[in-house]
Amino acid sequence: RQTEEQNLYAEPGMTACGYQVPIRVNIELEAEIDRVARFRPEGVGLLRTEVYFLDGSHAASEAEAEDQAESPNGSGRSHDQTRFLQRAAQLAGDDYLTVRLYDVGADKLPSYAQKEENPALGWRGVRILLENRSLLRAQLRLILEAVRNYPCKLRLLIPLVTSLEDVLEVRAELDTLLESFPHMHPELGIMVEVPSAVVMVEALAEVVDFMSIGTNDLTQYALAADRSNPKVAGYFNSAHPAIWRLIHQVVKACKKRDIMVSVCGELAANPQAACILTGLGVSSLSMAGPYIPGVKKILRSHTLELMEKQALSILKVQTRSEAEKILLYF
Ligand code: PEP
Ligand code: MG
Repeated sequence: RQTEEQNLYAEPGMTACGYQVPIRVNIELEAEIDRVARFRPEGVGLLRTEVYFLDGSHAASEAEAEDQAESPNGSGRSHDQTRFLQRAAQLAGDDYLTVRLYDVGADKLPSYAQKEENPALGWRGVRILLENRSLLRAQLRLILEAVRNYPCKLRLLIPLVTSLEDVLEVRAELDTLLESFPHMHPELGIMVEVPSAVVMVEALAEVVDFMSIGTNDLTQYALAADRSNPKVAGYFNSAHPAIWRLIHQVVKACKKRDIMVSVCGELAANPQAACILTGLGVSSLSMAGPYIPGVKKILRSHTLELMEKQALSILKVQTRSEAEKILLYF
């Protein structure tokens, strides 16, 4: 039985009819890399880098950012981040290494941060990076330096995008930096995790190379339910009909522009939901390592045709309970 499971880990993500859906891994700590390797992810779909920011002993000051910029392989935190990126690059092999730029704020708060009344609607994600350009440039440079000699395909992911400007400004910084890395061609993409990004998705699809749907925050913002408040846990439900429709809009816009769209929020780790996401046309899924075997197993048990049929049905339901019933079909 052990061998049977291990064989399954080694196979690519695929439906019963042979349609491939790469299953990649979400990683946030260096210590996880060894542990997830045995699940044989097909690449890294989300590398969270916040940990290099959240350690209170390393306040993310401008001064430190400049320090990093000057010496990206220098001592301390930037060195740790370089090693983290390189180990993740090894894990990715020649597949994608998707590195998310610092997504600090709200539920990911450094201890020195000022308290805000509405942190989820506050100073977080790309907003911090755009206000703190030297930090943005330092992290971009550190990433490029770290993986320049690895065969992985580098993707850079911008967190909490709410407008086109967010992307264009990061793109301009990246383009300037790339003049010093003429052999590197990283893709630039966005986390789709705020409803305004879904409303603007067609325009955003014109200026990005890929998208990744963050269903955790998308659920929180679309349903006005704090993802970490147990009092509204019943409202925080990624299987809500509105969430399926939002995801569908994103997939349609990406297909139209022929760019890849993955889901890296926790919804992707739910085996039944993974079938619906595949049926909706999502190109790949990314999840914490231990969920990979369960998702691979269920995908191999059903045809794409069935997943597409159920995906169409879920787009038509009006209530959460109807949506949940469709999920139970798998
Ligand atoms: C998300 O919001 O769905 C996501 C993947 O990012 P995080 O959970 O780190 O906010
Ligand atoms: Mg998020």
